[in-house]
Amino acid sequence: MRIILSILLFFQLSFSQTEQYTILISFDGFRWDYLNRGLTPNIDQLKSNGVYAESLEPVFPTKTFPNHYSIVTGLYPDNHGIILNEFRDPVTNAKYIIWDSSVVTNPKWYKGESIWENAKKQNVITASYFWPGSEIKDVKRQPNYFEKYNHNLPYDKRIEGVLNWLQLPFSERPKIVAMYFDATDSKGHRFGPNSKELNSAIQQLDSVIGKIVSGLEKLNLLSKTNIIITTDHGMTELSIERIVKINELVSAETFIEWSEPIMFVWPLEGKIEEVYSQLKSKESHFKTYKANEMISEFNFGKSNLLPPIMLVADLGWMLSTHEPTERELQRFYPGNHGFKHTEKDMHGIFVAAGPSFKKNFKTKILRTIDIYPLLCKINNLIPSKNIDGDLSKIDFITIGKK
Ligand code: AMP
Ligand code: ZN
Ligand code: ZN
Repeated sequence: MRIILSILLFFQLSFSQTEQYTILISFDGFRWDYLNRGLTPNIDQLKSNGVYAESLEPVFPTKTFPNHYSIVTGLYPDNHGIILNEFRDPVTNAKYIIWDSSVVTNPKWYKGESIWENAKKQNVITASYFWPGSEIKDVKRQPNYFEKYNHNLPYDKRIEGVLNWLQLPFSERPKIVAMYFDATDSKGHRFGPNSKELNSAIQQLDSVIGKIVSGLEKLNLLSKTNIIITTDHGMTELSIERIVKINELVSAETFIEWSEPIMFVWPLEGKIEEVYSQLKSKESHFKTYKANEMISEFNFGKSNLLPPIMLVADLGWMLSTHEPTERELQRFYPGNHGFKHTEKDMHGIFVAAGPSFKKNFKTKILRTIDIYPLLCKINNLIPSKNIDGDLSKIDFITIGKK
């Protein structure tokens, strides 16, 4: 009898160890304090059943693709290669741009190893519903299941798609699923972080969580699933009164590439020092960095995609190469991100609940870069080598860890 019981216990234990799921959910541009507006009953429920960080410090630049790819690789953009949503390879002049599907799926831009590639090597099945960087055209680097990005696909369809994956036969069912929703980013840009439209987006995303939780409950999977809600960056308010025209500050011939609060400056040969000191001496509402200063300040400066000089606007300011045109002023959006990652307005949220996490546990600031080793740990995956993330900075949120 005792032998039979031990055998049963053994099977039960090994089965429960393998039957565990992780749903990684990204709400684009969900600033840390949006959870304090009393609009998120479903997320609040997870907070009390799990772990809740004061805020999540993103990686620099605080843009969508760089941060999402850091979450799934544990690498800084310097090392994973997706340095902005849009950039140019200075050697080949080839352009990366997230709005062009043939570019965004081209494996050549993506360095390092994503969790999907790593999991595949270790026979763990993964899936992604729109996570940035999940459509790379190289089978070994893709999740087992993924969807081609469609910005307008209703959120209910995405939830339904994920719940369908979770009803596949056990041996085909994904164990790690990533999902993406844009509402807080889109409304935050268009109407600003303090608008009623943004508040409706918060409520819409909170209801997404309610639907995922009740869907899992119906499938009897809730107690076996780790739900992680996170984001890529926050959002801050802008004003047309706060624009610095950089072209008026530089006299030497210089090629400037513009990415709203960030500017890449490529002086002509031999002019780096001159341009740098000109900009440095005229700094107002922005900061000037050379490559070595970029590395120490932002972990961003080693990649050969990066310029010799970079400018970063102070929070709430924009940089421009010219006097804004009438058309640009009409289309001015009152919200943006991309600023320094240590600015609190750029911080996002981190909430995690499920069998791997402590309950009702509030912690101080966590870092985006450490999510990848956390994902590996809770899914029993050996992480890729040479990552930038550090498990010891986040492991204390898991069960049994001090
Ligand atoms: P950002 O302003 O940096 O937050 O970029 C947000 C935009 O990225 C969204 O409005 C989407 O249109 C776009 N985006 C998000 N995920 C993807 C994806 N997987 N593929 C292509 N574009 C995406
Ligand atoms: Zn974003
Ligand atoms: Zn955005």
